[in-house]
Order: sequence, then structure tokens, then C-alpha cells
Amino acid sequence: MIRLKTEDEIRKIRKAAKIVYETLEMVGEHVQPGVSLNELDQMAEKFIVSKGAIPGFKGLYGFPATLCLSPNDMVVHGIPNGQILHEGDIISVDCGAIVDGYYGDAARTFAVGEIDSEIRKLMDVTRTALEKGIAKCQSGNHLYDIGHSIQSYCESFGFGVVRELVGHGIGTKLHEDPQVPNYGVAGTGPVMKPGLCLAIEPMINAGGKEVYTAKDGWAVHTMDGKTSAHFEHTVAITENGPVVLSQGGETIFDS
Ligand code: MG
Ligand code: MG
Repeated sequence: MIRLKTEDEIRKIRKAAKIVYETLEMVGEHVQPGVSLNELDQMAEKFIVSKGAIPGFKGLYGFPATLCLSPNDMVVHGIPNGQILHEGDIISVDCGAIVDGYYGDAARTFAVGEIDSEIRKLMDVTRTALEKGIAKCQSGNHLYDIGHSIQSYCESFGFGVVRELVGHGIGTKLHEDPQVPNYGVAGTGPVMKPGLCLAIEPMINAGGKEVYTAKDGWAVHTMDGKTSAHFEHTVAITENGPVVLSQGGETIFDS
């Protein structure tokens, strides 16, 4: 069941999502050749706690860490380990935080030093696809307008749109209704209304759309071993359009 949020609830989601934004900014500054995934995870956890928030992923469904760290052909849900990042890698960083019982959720893919131009293009297209999806978050639009815009844009570059993993509603739970697929038919799905809060998160593959889950039960990889990128924002639908809650600067929900 979809539950619309009050403005007071959205202010709480905003507080959590802003800390997620700040965490991603901080982690991004430390993404460089030689850093380990464990180091990035530990600095994120310290940062979130220092802000008076709770890491949103740690312990949820049994996930053991603060960040999901997914390099190269890993799509999402990587458990941080001792792996060292090297020049030319990319790393998808997914982060959640809880403030006053409300979640924020966002993700970004970072380049490690200089990367291949095709991989740069995959990252740019995925980030733009997220922006296109957010632009559809208008009261009166249909939910699958979001996925349609993401899918049609990404597929026009020949990239694969992951089907098994989707965006989601967000609030007192990290994953609430509705599911927000990154594909779909425009003009279908529930009608969006003010107060709807969504995590929109295209997961886009340089090759085919097929994925598999590793033996650890978490890490999702591309089937063909090609690179994957992931960008995510927490967004509130208002009467005046979408407000990205997981960004810097000021929003109407800062108080
Ligand atoms: Mg996320
Ligand atoms: Mg999410």
C-alpha cells in the first residue's frame, strides 16, 4: 500500500537524505587508487554517526556494512571487503541513513582516476537517466512514466536496463510501496500525488540487462561481465513538482 507523507515527515526524510548526500560527497573525495572498500565503509560509518544519524543499511535484512560498494561489473549490493581500488575502476556507492526514524537513500558511481571513455559514457548516461526519471515525478503523472523515460533513454545508447532490481517508496522503512521499475510503459501505473516519496535508482549495464547474484547471496553482477553504473536520489513529489531530498543546498523541506 502506498502511503503519502506529510510535510513534517518529508522534513525528516530530508534530514536523513541530506546526511546521505554529505556522506557520498565525503566518500567521493576518498575514492582513489589504493583505497580499500573497507576503508571507505568505515569512514562513511564514522561520518554518519558523527552527524547523529544511524547507518541505514547495517543490519537491515542482515546486511553487514554501512555502504553497498559495487565495483565494475558488480551492479549493486556489494559487501565491503579488503579489495583495493585501481586506476580505471569504477565504484558504485550506495548509502542509507536514518534520522528520527525516517530513511534517506542515495547512490553514485565514481571513477577511480582515469577511466575508459565508454565507461565514462555509461556513467554519464545513467546519471542523466536518473534526472529524466526525476523530471517525470509530477503530480498527475503515472508511476511508470519514470521507468519509461529511463529505459528509452538508456536503450537508445544500446545499454542494458536491469529488470530484477527497482526503485521504491521510502519513509519509516527503507523499502516501501510502490516499486519503481527502471522500465515500463508510459501512461500506466498508479497516478502520482503530492506527498509521494520515492527512491529512484537506474542500474544500467554497458552490455546486456541480465544479472546474477553471487554465492554470498548479496552481490549482483552483470551476466556478461561488462561494467554497470548506479545513480539514485530520494525524491518528494509536491504540487510544484519533484524536490530532490538527497542533494546539497537548500530545499523547501529544510527548516
Ligand atoms: Mg540505495
Ligand atoms: Mg534504494
